[in-house]
Amino acid sequence: MKLLVDQYNREVNYLRLSVTDRCNLRCRYCRPEEGIELLPQREILTFEEILRVVKVFASQGIRKVRLTGGEPLVRRGIVELVRDIVATQGVMDVSLTTNGVLLAEYARPLKEAGLRRINVSLDTLRPERFAHITRRDRFGQVWEGIEEALRVGFAPVKLNVVALRGFNDDEIEDFARLSLQYPLHIRFIEFMPVGENNWRKEDVLRCDEIKGRVEAAFGELVPLPRGDMDGPARRFRIRGSKGEVGFISPLTAHFCSSCNRLRVTADGKIRTCLFSDDEMDLKGLLRSGASDDALAGALREALARKPEGPCRDGFRMRKCQRGMATIGG
Ligand code: SAM
Repeated sequence: MKLLVDQYNREVNYLRLSVTDRCNLRCRYCRPEEGIELLPQREILTFEEILRVVKVFASQGIRKVRLTGGEPLVRRGIVELVRDIVATQGVMDVSLTTNGVLLAEYARPLKEAGLRRINVSLDTLRPERFAHITRRDRFGQVWEGIEEALRVGFAPVKLNVVALRGFNDDEIEDFARLSLQYPLHIRFIEFMPVGENNWRKEDVLRCDEIKGRVEAAFGELVPLPRGDMDGPARRFRIRGSKGEVGFISPLTAHFCSSCNRLRVTADGKIRTCLFSDDEMDLKGLLRSGASDDALAGALREALARKPEGPCRDGFRMRKCQRGMATIGG
């Protein structure tokens, strides 16, 4: 079995693949109200191209694939794509990140296609606030999607909560409480400076502060051991809960030294670090008849340029040009 190891001795086995730059929400910290300038359809990788990338990357050591976007569920044929990625030799884990708007409809077919894990992004439990943050009145649909995902047996269903001061910080305890009632894994994520998203240091809610608030409300958290397939979250359980709470701290406890990921954007660019604008074009290679060896070579070349880490101290992070919406969160 091949391993992809970079010059800093990090094993890179995780691919985050953006399947579209389109989205059916307009979250205020991610995408402007009028939307972003969308890629022309012909610039977006076709399913055949995506599958070829996955096949070649898996032959080189990629084991986990996460589909993201944009909103992956707005891409027609997503269920078939999941099925084909699940069947790709070498791929051991396929997951998907969604805003949940279309999840009630897609949860079952995705499960049947072999998807095991799903992350739903949800920053508030209040319908009016949801409409404000996302500029779309869809809370009810998202909640139905989460319930359906649990019903059809996704395990785990993770809820990603980006915590911002003065935005949703009064709901930390409500989110944590959900893990008492449901087998949900709540993941609090620090707000990151990406693209032109009006990031301000004052808006960031540090994970240690969030954890302190959860412990003040529910008692000392029980730490959980790290699993093989775990991402960068520090995981805990409230005593007696069905689910978990976790903290992802890209700013205050950055995880560059153990970063195992690379990204492929919807327009076929390899990015080896979310915060670096260094990209390598795969689409050109795919469309000019490159061999599998040439694609694997491009992957290795990109990996050789994976930065050690952009952050000297968490709050002085280099800011990248592209926003989350076009990189793929
Ligand atoms: N549409 C899908 C979704 O909502 O999950 C996938 C794409 S979305 C860009 C992926 C995740 O990135 C969401 O959880 C979103 O909240 C998060 N995100 C966007 N901008 C962010 C930022 N500046 N800092 C932290 N997370 C961010």
